[in-house]
Amino acid sequence: MSHDLARENRQLRDQLKQLIANAQKNQQILQRHQRLDLQLISADSFQALFDTLFSTFPETAGLDIVTLGLIDGQYDIRRILVQLEVNLSELPQLIFLQDESEYGDLSGQLHKPMLGAYSEERFGMMFPEPLAPPASAAIVPLRRHTRLIGTLNLGSNDPERFMPNMSTDFIEHMASIAAICVENVINNERLKHIGLTDPLTGVNNRRYLERRLLEEIGRSRRQQTPLSCMYMDIDHFKQINDRIGHQAGDEVLRGVAGRIKAELRLSDSLGRFGGEEFVVLLTDTEREDAVNVAERIRQSIAEQPLVLASGEALNVTISVGVAGLLPAMADEAVETTSQHLVARADHALYEAKALGRNRVVVES
Ligand code: GH3
Ligand code: MG
Ligand code: MG
Repeated sequence: MSHDLARENRQLRDQLKQLIANAQKNQQILQRHQRLDLQLISADSFQALFDTLFSTFPETAGLDIVTLGLIDGQYDIRRILVQLEVNLSELPQLIFLQDESEYGDLSGQLHKPMLGAYSEERFGMMFPEPLAPPASAAIVPLRRHTRLIGTLNLGSNDPERFMPNMSTDFIEHMASIAAICVENVINNERLKHIGLTDPLTGVNNRRYLERRLLEEIGRSRRQQTPLSCMYMDIDHFKQINDRIGHQAGDEVLRGVAGRIKAELRLSDSLGRFGGEEFVVLLTDTEREDAVNVAERIRQSIAEQPLVLASGEALNVTISVGVAGLLPAMADEAVETTSQHLVARADHALYEAKALGRNRVVVES
């Protein structure tokens, strides 16, 4: 009898231990998920958001892959990412869609998570090359105020991890938080973008360029690469304004900005510095090569009249001053170098004006 009691006692104790262990495990899972929620909520930049969604989330939830589909019909989000210099080719987990119809078979069904064994035609576009396709997947809609903004796409190498008819409470909870956070980050970054963009021409503004100057001078010093700067000014712009009006003058500014931009690489930065003045920073570019670029820009403007909305074709020219970073500047404060570089390009521009305009002058 006492022997039985002792055995029963042991069994109960073992059960209790098991229960406590389970409770502790659940507690840990809960804490991990809460940490994930918090990290997601506190993401205030694309980088933080992507880190959370593509690294922390799969680790926490035991997933093999997570991707994010974003509906970006106006290229808004991509434009901001380019300005932020996010290298999209390094983020295959980020997929852009023009509209919901690009979800193919899934479009129109995305009011609830779609789960199931992986099939190329159903889930392929959410796990594109070079990513390895999972064995099962869940495509979870991200909605804000009934509008579909994209999907969070979860993949597992376990074919039974996501099966139709499975409970989706946890992933729906994640998705509702993720939707708010994604929208919040996009809005945040859009605000930053607006603060760094010239509304008239759509190119960067002076604030952005001054910030970029400091970064690029730093980079150029670290990596021992050349850096050049061009200062451009539209010739006789006051006369243009006086003759065709201020509004048409604005059109000219937009047209000139467009011509300049068309001749630049993605890594160069163009900013409207003031009235009818533009500054361009050419990374990894020797002064002599910058002169060639400047000459190309000058020609592209001078040789093709700008056609205004009114139909009037207008001959416009610009003058350009070019300056390069000098080895002697290496010991100065970055801020000083930045000011000197722009001032030297401006000085060369002044010479170009004095020599008769519509020309490129490199600092002597
Ligand atoms: P120069 O060849 O020596 O550069 O002559 P300029 O007439 O271009 O030079 P100036 O700096 O005297 O004139 C610049 C003009 O640009 C004066 C100003 O009315 C005009 N301007 C400045 N900002 C804007 C703008 O946003 N829109 C328009 N339409 N005009 C502007
Ligand atoms: Mg001027
Ligand atoms: Mg001018």
